[in-house]
Amino acid sequence: MSNIVAIVGRPNVGKSTLFNRLIEARKAIVDDFSGVTRDRHYGVSEWTGHDFTVIDTGGYVANSDDVFEAAIREQVLIAIEEASVILFMVDVTTGITDLDDEIATFLRKSKKPVFVVSNKVDNNSQQVESATFYGFGLGEIYNISAMTGSGTGELLDEVVKTF
Ligand code: GDP
Ligand code: MG
Repeated sequence: MSNIVAIVGRPNVGKSTLFNRLIEARKAIVDDFSGVTRDRHYGVSEWTGHDFTVIDTGGYVANSDDVFEAAIREQVLIAIEEASVILFMVDVTTGITDLDDEIATFLRKSKKPVFVVSNKVDNNSQQVESATFYGFGLGEIYNISAMTGSGTGELLDEVVKTF
């Protein structure tokens, strides 16, 4: 399958929550390689007739800060190479962190389409705060709540257009 959507971002922004939501309908985790394949989970999903593979990155990174950043950096680089589309997930409740900025720097160099996904927008008033993420210089911001599913349809409508 050639449509590959990678979810990247620092820990705790909600990547796995979105991954689980996207593969929910099929309950189809292609492989669970925990620890073996550098920490990536693959699942299959479908939206409006488009099939795609989803990659959840960075699930079990080691604790030390250095290893941590190096591992995340590696995941982002692999994702850029492997994916056809990248979802760069950030957290509206924390705003931009140094690690977010570091990931954004890699993504700006990528030739692949990048969607900036502002997660944890659980209510409309938080949408205003997402505007800070325009600072990445990566284009449009997609507000979602991975927890409730709000906004994910609008995001996927745009993602499948890149296939
Ligand atoms: P990951 O480390 O990026 O994979 O993040 P997780 O998916 O494990 O989520 C980290 C934490 O954020 C968990 O406690 C989730 O329940 C919470 N979370 C994820 N999505 C949302 C959301 O849309 N809204 C809120 N309020 N919490 C969320
Ligand atoms: Mg995770």
